[in-house]
Amino acid sequence: MEKKKKNICLIGAGCVNLITAYYLKHTGCELTILDAAPNPLGCSWNKLGCTWGGEDARMFTLTEADNYNQKTTPHNNESNMYFNQNVKDLGWDARQDISTELEKKWINHYRSVLPHQARQYEDSILSFNAESRNLWETMQETDAELFEGVEYKEGIVRIYSDEEHYRSQLARHSHLGSLLHNYPTLEELIINHPGLENAVNNKGISGGFKTIGFTVNAHKFFSKLVDWLEQRDVDFHWNEKVEHIQYDKSGKVVSLETPKRLLKSDNFVLSLGAYGSELLKKTPAKGIIGGVLGAWLTIPNVSPKLKHPLKLSRKGHVTEDANITIAKDKEGNPVLIIGSGYGFTGTSPHNIEKHQLELVYKGIENTAQLYFPEAYEQAAAVSALEKTQKYCIRPWTPTGLGIFESIPTVTGGHDTGGFAQAPSIACAVLASFSDTSHPMHNLYQDSGWKKQA
Ligand SMILES: Cc1cc2nc3c(=O)[nH]c(=O)nc-3n(C[C@H](O)[C@H](O)[C@H](O)COP(=O)(O)OP(=O)(O)OC[C@H]3O[C@@H](n4cnc5c(N)ncnc54)[C@H](O)[C@@H]3O)c2cc1C
Repeated sequence: MEKKKKNICLIGAGCVNLITAYYLKHTGCELTILDAAPNPLGCSWNKLGCTWGGEDARMFTLTEADNYNQKTTPHNNESNMYFNQNVKDLGWDARQDISTELEKKWINHYRSVLPHQARQYEDSILSFNAESRNLWETMQETDAELFEGVEYKEGIVRIYSDEEHYRSQLARHSHLGSLLHNYPTLEELIINHPGLENAVNNKGISGGFKTIGFTVNAHKFFSKLVDWLEQRDVDFHWNEKVEHIQYDKSGKVVSLETPKRLLKSDNFVLSLGAYGSELLKKTPAKGIIGGVLGAWLTIPNVSPKLKHPLKLSRKGHVTEDANITIAKDKEGNPVLIIGSGYGFTGTSPHNIEKHQLELVYKGIENTAQLYFPEAYEQAAAVSALEKTQKYCIRPWTPTGLGIFESIPTVTGGHDTGGFAQAPSIACAVLASFSDTSHPMHNLYQDSGWKKQA
């Protein structure tokens, strides 16, 4: 007798669940995917979640996601202050309305993380990047067509404004097995990457090296994946928000409710980004996912063109870390997409003070002007800069650890690395459906938070 196919309903069509759907489809499951937001194709960016609302650029590296607590002693009153200062004071708080009790608890929990715990969390997070690296490679072999026509670029050039930071990161990447090539002098950096000559002349770079990683134009990639899933009979329902989870007496999820229907399924997978605080209230993941906005600016990729994506660190700058992706705009012109900045929105992704967001935009503009002056001038001359400004909200936890809960299956909170880690998350979901264990089931648990709840 033919075995009945497992029926799974995924809530949220951001990058995490789309990659999970890809893996589930390969095991032959029947899938339905719902998203509260409209179909992203042709829809205005500010109505969409993080994956589709942000720009057409995402990066995989072995240090994506990462932990953002202090890792060196002493731990004192000045430690872990990002969420206590606003963007103007080089902190991350971008909220318009004052803290709720839950947000105070969230920030206190972030502040309480001790250096040895932060190092342990970092190891856990990076282990899932390492697992994902192999999985991304397999995906490229198995379904190569998904990576065609999406501006796939391999090798990430990391550049640092600060000499000491460059040296410490060179040692870190060497230790992680991520280093491909160090450029011992700035002259050698320019010979290999002529597009960086202006940045060096403007004293923006103290050192650089190349590491393992890749970038894609994420919207092109995920549009292809949506097509791939639809061709395999996956049902997508946009504009449909799940409002309630119904449990039976034993605590098992019986159904999910939307304004249109009751959804029944063998399993439910919820990956709601920073937008799920209401729905997750009745799950073990309640309250732990906050939002941190990041912003985007697009400039032309002018001659001599940049050929490799960049990761830029400007120590002490308002937009300290930037990913710079090589892309094509809608008309097919070569562009650089700069994504950068951190702005805590608390439990409501809409709680943003305009001035703090403006500061993030200005910071990115300053990066464009210093590192790519010709492209910046060209865009500014036709008033094109402001038109390309966008922001989106990443799901974030106090420890940087993602979330993995099994009843219902909830994944989320992967801060700067939802794209990079998605294959590993998918494998953790698959493992839980086949009653096998995956390290994420244990490592993405914040027992300290649960004890307080
Ligand atoms: C500037 C910037 C740069 C970044 N760069 C990188 C990078 O280079 N590499 C990387 O790995 N990561 C990067 N990230 C982080 C990454 O984009 C996020 O981690 C990722 O997009 C989160 O994906 P997600 O699927 O968890 O959430 P989302 O993309 O937000 O998707 C969640 C979806 O759930 C839906 N939803 C929520 N509630 C409900 C409900 N009740 N019913 C139905 N649907 C619901 C939402 O509408 C949304 O579409 C970056 C983030 C920013 C801001």
